[in-house]
Amino acid sequence: MDKDCIFCKIINGEIPSTKVYEDDEFLAFMDINPAVRGHTLVIPKYHCRNILDTPENVGKNFYNVISKVSNAVKKAFNAEGIYVFQQNENAAGQEVFHSHVHIIPRYKGDEFGKYSPPRLKVEIPEIAKDGEKIRQSF
Ligand code: AMP
Ligand code: ZN
Repeated sequence: MDKDCIFCKIINGEIPSTKVYEDDEFLAFMDINPAVRGHTLVIPKYHCRNILDTPENVGKNFYNVISKVSNAVKKAFNAEGIYVFQQNENAAGQEVFHSHVHIIPRYKGDEFGKYSPPRLKVEIPEIAKDGEKIRQSF
């Protein structure tokens, strides 16, 4: 719990939100400034900054909850797909520093398709070197 954190305040009911799912460890609520209708956020109740500092025990059930909420959003909005993303640190676009995952209903040919960046042309040996760098970084 961080007394200055807006999402901790939502968890505590100090500021209003439209909650859609809650259990002992997680909360899901509607994004107040939605990219599309149905844009939902899932957060752990434990205050951590983002995926980079989430303790193992806190992250353990996160995927299951994201899956559960994604299915409900998909059904509620007749979505054809669900886009899930998390922005970690300022450089990645994070603005609220309480770990959260965005759940976005997607439809064929929708606006979101425009945001996919063009892919680089990188040869397999170079990709293998990138993989080696990551393996050495655990
Ligand atoms: P990010 O840029 O990944 O940190 O996302 C933060 C998200 O939180 C944005 O999509 C905001 O619209 C959303 N947000 C900020 N304040 C609130 C709030 N009080 N209730 C619901 N969503 C919020
Ligand atoms: Zn918080």
